[in-house]
Amino acid sequence: MEVADGDHYTTACHADATVFESHESNVRSYCRSFPAVFQRAKGAIIYAESGKAYIDFFAGAGGLNYGHNNPFIKERIVAHLQDDGITHGLDFYTTAKRQFIASFVENILSPRGLDYKLQFTGPTGTNAVEAALKVARKATGRSGIFAFMGGYHGMSLGSLAATGNLGSRGGAGVALTGVHFMPFPHGALKGIDSIEYMEALLTDSHSGVEKPAAVILETVQAEGGVVPFPTDWLRRLRELCDRHAILMIVDDIQVGCFRTGPFFSFEPAGIVPDVVTLSKSISGYGLPMSLVLIRPQYDIWKPGEHTGTFRGHQLAFVGAAAAIDYAREHGVEAQVARKGEWVGRFLKEHIATLDARLEIRGVGLIWGIDFAKAGGSETANRVSTTCFENGLIAETCGRRDAVVKLLPPLTIDDALLEKGCQVIRDATSKCINA
Ligand code: PMP
Repeated sequence: MEVADGDHYTTACHADATVFESHESNVRSYCRSFPAVFQRAKGAIIYAESGKAYIDFFAGAGGLNYGHNNPFIKERIVAHLQDDGITHGLDFYTTAKRQFIASFVENILSPRGLDYKLQFTGPTGTNAVEAALKVARKATGRSGIFAFMGGYHGMSLGSLAATGNLGSRGGAGVALTGVHFMPFPHGALKGIDSIEYMEALLTDSHSGVEKPAAVILETVQAEGGVVPFPTDWLRRLRELCDRHAILMIVDDIQVGCFRTGPFFSFEPAGIVPDVVTLSKSISGYGLPMSLVLIRPQYDIWKPGEHTGTFRGHQLAFVGAAAAIDYAREHGVEAQVARKGEWVGRFLKEHIATLDARLEIRGVGLIWGIDFAKAGGSETANRVSTTCFENGLIAETCGRRDAVVKLLPPLTIDDALLEKGCQVIRDATSKCINA
């Protein structure tokens, strides 16, 4: 087990949250659900200043697939710093970037028969999505985008326009245009065959909807409540895109990098998207980095048409190359398959059985417990709060925040994974009957 007991790291003068609450913008969010002051972390454990240890089932919202301060990756990053390796590199050619690109092509793309150009964007996920939408529009000469109800793609204006959450959209202050939302094969509109629906829109001369440049989707809607798209549905979507010469953009920012098992979440469907966005865990160490993969025929950017000062975070490149080696040497893909199966079984046998109204969804190491029909967000939030009190961080997500999401580091050891799941089970059992 990774918990180091008895470790107390207290910085007396900053032990409370006053400074944040007095000076930091009201926009802050996660800290309201998890109001400790965190100081250090290792593997799947994050420690507050008080010394209290929390099992981290949030993992930097998916940015820490290989755990906090993964020693294998840290060693390479520290060595780079020690050698005065370049830290900030714009989009200069650098040794660290060359090593990452070469390794990514050799170990990730080539074995999967994938041929993509790599575009490094500003280091947030939303910037990768902006670039993906822009290049699709440029390549097709069309401006519309199809996105899916429940989808999440970021908070800048282009990506927010493709994000379904009306609460988030409310912050835009301008009209968010250019995106049509399609029904998602889940929930209230489950009965609608969304592929047939799109086909009808695209072939009916009076549909009122122009042919879009691209369709953007997450293969597992993560912020939207952990909802996986069926693989045969993904295949039909790929066929629809081919039939109508529409680009398919898979946003793998949260569920790529082995989160669902394979490196890319779309692999089991046997499809090849035209554009893929990656961020969050790509740097391996929680450092900011984003990447857009573009099929060569669509890489029609003019030099400098999408730039950014922070496209060359060299420590992130070092971490990203190390993460590829780490994943191979430690069999991360197989670990996720094994642990994911265990979690799925645990949730179905020990949590779903607490109340027939609960719904369990997930794949690999992303799982959701949906309380929509069992007390809704009130219960889900109570479960999350109870977990926090009992030393576990698990966020709520989805419509009206009714889903408790499990997103542990992929590297979590078995005993801690089991302990974390037990904490959630006990909290669910307590809150569902309260
Ligand atoms: N796309 C997906 C699927 C995401 O989950 C997120 C982040 N939650 C983003 C895009 C945006 O990434 P960022 O917060 O780094 O801008």
